[in-house]
Amino acid sequence: MSSLDDLYRRVIMDHYQNPRNRGAFEDDALTINMNNPTCGDRISLQLKIDNGKVRDAKFTGEGCSISMASASMMTDAIKGVDVDKALNMADLFSRMMKGEDVEDELDELDIGDIEALQGVCKFPARIKCATLAWKAMQKGVSETADHDKA
Ligand code: ZN
Repeated sequence: MSSLDDLYRRVIMDHYQNPRNRGAFEDDALTINMNNPTCGDRISLQLKIDNGKVRDAKFTGEGCSISMASASMMTDAIKGVDVDKALNMADLFSRMMKGEDVEDELDELDIGDIEALQGVCKFPARIKCATLAWKAMQKGVSETADHDKA
């Protein structure tokens, strides 16, 4: 095992054991529930989107360390950024899960600890765990867009 794998594993366990943005808003917020039946992961993501920006994000749920760490990292990464940028991050993340080399773009987007999950792409069964939170965010954003149009 390389020391980089070891570092990444520690980052993932840290997010799993000390999740960022875990909880629910007391007032109304856009809520997206999603699950990953293959692993039993469940997430309830709440977003505050306003004027094309993700003002805040929180999540609750339960599941494996990968799914929960990913939700913690994702909410951390998208807080305070433009919705477009959040979607770019989601796209980048899904390409990372396909094993594409996205190193330069990761640096450019300043995407936090998310690179720690790149090893997951070697384990196809776990990719859905890692992408669950991102898919919930994409769904929430698209619902907001529909709402704005109406
Ligand atoms: Zn899982």
